[in-house]
Amino acid sequence: MSHIPVSKSRVRPPAPNASLERHTQRFLELRRGLEQIEYFCKGTVLKRMMKCGKAQCACASDATKRHGPYFELTYKANGKTVNVKLSPEAAPLYRAAAKQYRKLKTLLNRLDKLSKTILRQQAKLTESKRPD
Ligand SMILES: [Zn+2]
Repeated sequence: MSHIPVSKSRVRPPAPNASLERHTQRFLELRRGLEQIEYFCKGTVLKRMMKCGKAQCACASDATKRHGPYFELTYKANGKTVNVKLSPEAAPLYRAAAKQYRKLKTLLNRLDKLSKTILRQQAKLTESKRPD
């Protein structure tokens, strides 16, 4: 009877490794997306038409005669809403930056989810190499 030496790596089923490789590739792909992110800014840009408060002004009775538009960046910091006034020129810049922030958040969430999957698989792989 011949004895065939079986290495540990051949005993291990290939499936977890292949899956890990696939997830790792996806992670690297997604991570490249971070480099595409432009200047970003948490919050939302609001466009407001305002009443001036003078009783005799047309804005007091006619909603179409309100003043503006006025722009604001609004975001939450430490549970509080913060409003920052923006000039009409600044508004589009901040609007684009807010869009970048949402993109970044989506990307981070996906990277986080993927990282957890990879970490789980890496842990399993390491556990399977534990000497009996
Ligand atoms: Zn007015």
